[in-house]
Amino acid sequence: MLDCAIVGGGPAGLTAGLYATRGGLKEVVMYEMGMPGGQITQSSEIENYPGVFREDPPLTGMDLMEPWPAQCMHFGLKHEMKEVRRIRKAGDHFVVELAGDEEVEAKSIVVCTGSTPKRAGFKGEEEFFGRGISTCATCDGFFYKDKEVAVLGGGDTALEEALYLANICSKVYVIHRRETFRAAPPTVERARKNDKIEFILNASVEEAFGDATGLQGVRIAFSDGREPMTLNVPGLFVFVGNNVNNKVLQQEDGSFLCEVNEQGQVIVDLNMHTSVPGLYAAGDLRIEAAKQVVCAAADGAVAGMQALHYVQEQEA
Ligand code: FAD
Ligand code: NAP
Repeated sequence: MLDCAIVGGGPAGLTAGLYATRGGLKEVVMYEMGMPGGQITQSSEIENYPGVFREDPPLTGMDLMEPWPAQCMHFGLKHEMKEVRRIRKAGDHFVVELAGDEEVEAKSIVVCTGSTPKRAGFKGEEEFFGRGISTCATCDGFFYKDKEVAVLGGGDTALEEALYLANICSKVYVIHRRETFRAAPPTVERARKNDKIEFILNASVEEAFGDATGLQGVRIAFSDGREPMTLNVPGLFVFVGNNVNNKVLQQEDGSFLCEVNEQGQVIVDLNMHTSVPGLYAAGDLRIEAAKQVVCAAADGAVAGMQALHYVQEQEA
């Protein structure tokens, strides 16, 4: 039986593993279905993780996360590249159900499954997803070198990625449904000053259109009475927020293993304890998450230490 199973290998999961193993737990496995690092590895620029600022070239999310796994593995954390399907309780321990019908028992669990990009919900979004519509500028921006693209959204991700795309593309239209932005004021200012970025405000994407080769454009409607317009762009980047990945906590009858709020975020206390003893949640999927790498890592540290105490107390 594992001392601790960590589900998810982003900043929260890796740090939980570091603290649990360095604190003395022996059998700690981090289940991460992809490469460790989490969603920040998709970011073209990170300048708010303390101690690692770089201006030119900017530090990418991949640069930031690259050394983390080796440090964690050094203290004994094991990584298995497997998807966790569900976590359930069995007596005084937990069962981790893995893809391929494999099951593993664990004394404690830290869930760090983070969040994934939301879909905006317009016509044609699914049809052209991966064929012109993307949620990752670092991954797909280069396909539109010297071409015009559009970005949907007005948060930090939308504006930061619009700035990144402006380095590659000939023009970046930012389509946002309001006149003010959720993004941090300095980021809005930088985007406003960028000659290649044009804002289309009070606007929403009604429909994406194209043919078998992919996206050809989007039809835009306005909430302020202006006539609808068409933008002929081969690329649309959708950055409209994230959904928490809480599926692993959902039981066969549809209920959740621990308490979650109406948005599905896991309810924890300041020690990352969920409503179930021995089960911890850290990072973007917990309530009131600041959705920052530094905060996810801090949550992971707290959860890793709590899992360590829990297992040691059970054994005492
Ligand atoms: P995640 O990073 O989401 O990691 C969760 C991991 O769990 C993923 O690797 C996923 O593959 C894995 N997983 C999920 N479900 C399963 C399963 N069932 N089985 C196995 N593995 C699973 N934050 C900043 O501080 N500064 C920034 O500049 C910044 N820029 C950003 C730019 C972009 C484009 C994005 C998308 C985010 C940005 N963020 C930034 C936010 C930051 O990335 C997140 O707050 C942080 O990554 C959350 O860490 P996490 O460990 O909670 O979750
Ligand atoms: P977000 O802050 O939730 O912003 C989502 C944006 O999309 C909002 O502008 C929202 O409009 C718009 N939107 C939502 N649903 C829409 C729809 N169906 N159609 C059109 N537009 C829609 O999401 P995010 O930008 O991905 O950021 C997520 C979190 O990560 C935030 O906490 C953010 O601060 C953090 N983050 C931080 C950094 C950084 O620190 N540098 C970088 C990236 C992300 P409204 O504003 O009208 O609601």
